[in-house]
Amino acid sequence: MADGVVPDGVTVFDNNYPAVARLDPALAAALRRAATDAAGDGVKLLVNSGWRSPKYQGQLLREAISKYGSREKAARWVASPSTSAHVSGKAVDIGPLAATPWLSRHGARYGLCQIYSDEPWHYERRPSASVHGCPPRYADPTHDPRLK
Ligand SMILES: [Zn+2]
Repeated sequence: MADGVVPDGVTVFDNNYPAVARLDPALAAALRRAATDAAGDGVKLLVNSGWRSPKYQGQLLREAISKYGSREKAARWVASPSTSAHVSGKAVDIGPLAATPWLSRHGARYGLCQIYSDEPWHYERRPSASVHGCPPRYADPTHDPRLK
């Protein structure tokens, strides 16, 4: 867990897990505001993944390469340790899947945006979203200039 592995059922308030405690403070604060309001609507937001150590991200990338057959194909799903927004604490994967429609509908109010069309669970903070809405999504991470 020191590398950011998350057991089932962790919330954005569970600061004893490095995956949560090492999130960017502004992202964590936005997630907590959203989770509080979601709970009021009967929706529980969980953290399936948050901050990850470079070592853990590297392990995920190696697993994806063996699953998808090549580094190019794996890049659609998993970034490298040097580029991943998870490693810098600026991304969170929200669960369960039933909670993602709530965040999709209300996230912009908290500056929380889905970044990739193929990852309805992956959220990052875009502060201007509360005024202008979330920016257009990339189809998948291979279209994200930050990951090149
Ligand atoms: Zn993610």
